[in-house]
Amino acid sequence: MKTLLTEAELRAGVASLGEQIRERYDGRPLTLIAVMTGSLVFLADLIRVLDLPVRVGVIQASSYRGGMKAGELTTATDMLIDVAGHDVLLVDDIFDTGKTLDRLMQIIQDLGAKSVGSAVLLHKQRQHDVSLRPDYVAFEIPDEFVVGYGLDYLDLFRNLPHLAVLDQNDIEAAKEQAES
Ligand code: 5GP
Ligand code: MG
Repeated sequence: MKTLLTEAELRAGVASLGEQIRERYDGRPLTLIAVMTGSLVFLADLIRVLDLPVRVGVIQASSYRGGMKAGELTTATDMLIDVAGHDVLLVDDIFDTGKTLDRLMQIIQDLGAKSVGSAVLLHKQRQHDVSLRPDYVAFEIPDEFVVGYGLDYLDLFRNLPHLAVLDQNDIEAAKEQAES
C-alpha cells in the first residue's frame, strides 16, 4: 500500500486544526459530535489538542459501501447527547460527496443547537453533491479511496497509524480476511 499521509503529518495537521478551532470559539464551551465510526481516531487526537471546555458525543451515519462506492445513507441518533442550545461542531473523517455532513448538519439544527459547524480531517478534491462546505479541513487529498487513521475498507485497516491508498493485493487480501 502507498502512504498518503504519515503519522507526523497527521499529527501536525490535527494540531493546526485544533488551533484554528480554539481561536474561533475562544474559551466558549463546545460540543463535539463525532460521526461514527471513521472519525474515532481523529476525534481522540483532536480533543486532546483543543484547549477549550468540550463536551463529546457521537452520531451514527453510514452509506453502506460493501466496498468503495457510497450507497444509501442511514443515520441514527440514539447515542447522541443533548445538543439543544449548544454550540456544536460535527467531526467527520472525510468529506467526499458531502451528503453525510449535509444531512447531519440538518439533524443537529432541527434538534435546536445554537450553532452547528463542521470539521473534517480530509477533503477530497472532486465535485461534491451538495453546496455545503466544511468549516475546518486538515488536508486536501486526491479523489482516491483511503484507509487508516480510523478509516476502513470492509471494517479493516482502521488501526493503521498513517493514511494509505490500497493496492490490488491489499484489496484481495482484505476481501479474504473479511470472508473468513
Ligand atoms: P460523503 O457522504 O461525503 O460522500 O461520505 C462521507 C463518508 O463516506 C465518510 O464519513 C466515510 O465514512 C466514507 N468515505 C468517503 N470516502 C472514503 C474513503 O476514501 N475511504 C473510506 N474508508 N471511507 C470513505
Ligand atoms: Mg463515515
